[in-house]
Amino acid sequence: MTIKVVVTPRSFAATSPLPLKVLEERGYSIVRNQLERPLEVDELLELVRDADALIVGIDKVTRKIIENAPRLQVISKYGVGVDNIDLEAAAEKGIIVTNTPDVNTEAVADLAVGLMLAAARRIPQADASMRQGQWKKFMGMSLFGKTVGILGTGRIGRAVARRLLGFSTKLLLYDVCPDPSLAAEVRGEYVGLEQILREADYISVHLPLVPETRNLIGEAELRLMKPNAVLINTSRGGIVEEKALARALREGWIRAAALDVYAEEPLRGRELLDLETTVLTPHIGAYTEEAVMRMGLEAAENVISVLEGRRPKNVVSCYRTHEGEANGGSASR
Ligand code: NAD
Repeated sequence: MTIKVVVTPRSFAATSPLPLKVLEERGYSIVRNQLERPLEVDELLELVRDADALIVGIDKVTRKIIENAPRLQVISKYGVGVDNIDLEAAAEKGIIVTNTPDVNTEAVADLAVGLMLAAARRIPQADASMRQGQWKKFMGMSLFGKTVGILGTGRIGRAVARRLLGFSTKLLLYDVCPDPSLAAEVRGEYVGLEQILREADYISVHLPLVPETRNLIGEAELRLMKPNAVLINTSRGGIVEEKALARALREGWIRAAALDVYAEEPLRGRELLDLETTVLTPHIGAYTEEAVMRMGLEAAENVISVLEGRRPKNVVSCYRTHEGEANGGSASR
C-alpha cells in the first residue's frame, strides 16, 4: 500500500525543493493543502482519514481528527509550538509528535528585534505616510540603553537577549527555569514578572502557550506597565489578551505594541488594526528563506524516521517503543 503523507503548510518547500524531494524519493504519495489558508477541522479530517503521516503548520489537529485517522503514525509539526495539536489524543493513539525547534530560532529573534525598532521608531507608519505623498516627522523612542524585559529565555528569548547586547540595554529576564550562565553572558538579571512589568521600557514575549501562560498579560499586567512601554509578542497569541491590549493602547496605559501572533489566525476583528500604535505582521517569524528550507527538511526527516522505525530527531511526545527504547518528551517544547 502506498504511504500517504499530508502536508498542510503552504510555505513547505517554497524556497527549495529538497524537503519534497526527500519524501518523493521514498515513493510516498504527497497530498498538499491546496487552499491559501490553514485548513478547518473538517477539511483536515478528510485529508488525513487514510494518511500515514501529517506535516502540519498552525492548523488545529483535534481529537476528532486523530481518532478518525487509524493509519496515522506521526504528526510532524512544521515549527515549534505544538499548542494546536491534541497531544493527549495523539499519545492515546500511539501517534508520535515531532517538531523543528532549532531551525527558526534566529529568524524569530531577528523579527522580534525588528518589531521593537519598528514599533518604537514607527517605521511602518512613516513609510505609509510617505507613500501618501506626505513628509511628516514621526517622533520615536530609543532602544539603545533602555531596559528590556524578556519573558521566556529558551531558544528564542536568549537569541533576542544576545542581539540586544549590541544595544547596551539593561536586560531583565523571566523564566520558570532561570539560566545563571545566560544571565552572566548577556549581563542580565532574572527577576519576577511584576518587576519586569513595572520597570521595562520594552517587553518581548518568548513563552510557550501552556495553561500557565494563557492570558498571562491581561488588563492587570498592562496597567502595571510604564506609559512608555512597548510590548512585543512573537510567541503565541493566547499569551497576551488582545481586548485588554487594545484598550491599553487606546487609553495610553502603554505606548505601542508589535505582534506577529494572534489568539485566532488569521486575525479577526479590526480593533488592533485600527490603532495607530500597533505594528502587526501575519505570523511571519519563521518566514526566512533559510528557516523555511531547514524547517521543511527537518519536518520531512522526522516523518521519514518514524515511518522507517527510527527515533526522530525532535520528539515532542512519544509513547511508543522504538528499537526497544521507551521514549518520552516534553510537551511544552
Ligand atoms: P523554548 O521552549 O526554547 O523556550 C520557552 C521558555 O519558556 C523556556 O525557557 C521555558 O523554561 C520557559 N517557560 C515555559 N513555561 C513557562 C512559564 N509558565 N513561566 C515562565 N517561563 C516558562 O521555546 P522557543 O523555541 O524559544 O519558542 C518560544 C515561543 O515562540 C513559543 O511560543 C513558540 O511557539 C513561538 N514561536 C513563534 C514563531 C513565529 O513564527 N512567530 C516561530 C517559532 C516559535
